[in-house]
Amino acid sequence: MEIFKQGSRGKKKVISDYFHGDVFQDPIIVAPEPSRVRAIKVSFEPKARTAWHTHPLGQTLFVLSGIGLVGLRNKAPQIINVGDTVWIAPNEEHWHGATKEYSMEHIAIHETMNGKVANWLEQVLDIDYNI
Ligand code: MN
Repeated sequence: MEIFKQGSRGKKKVISDYFHGDVFQDPIIVAPEPSRVRAIKVSFEPKARTAWHTHPLGQTLFVLSGIGLVGLRNKAPQIINVGDTVWIAPNEEHWHGATKEYSMEHIAIHETMNGKVANWLEQVLDIDYNI
């Protein structure tokens, strides 16, 4: 058994071409092989968001604080609030992030397939982000 004390593994700013704005990540589950489940806490400052992406085995999001958005192709982004759970199907193209005015923090749970949890695509255009 291991207990990871709060903050002991570090809340790290995400430096990535696949995010926009200020995003921070904290690991929750990084179990060794053959486990494939992964969970992270992700914090998006206002206006921050992921790029478009898919997950090979899907993803569950659980909103911890703030007000967020989740977007699908050719659809207006939908608002997600504290306590909401979002299921994203395998290979469904989507993005998630904060709203323009509020930050948002969620837990993201997903599984690796061939070592990958996501396939990254292009950035979300402002015209698709704005609602
Ligand atoms: Mn996702």
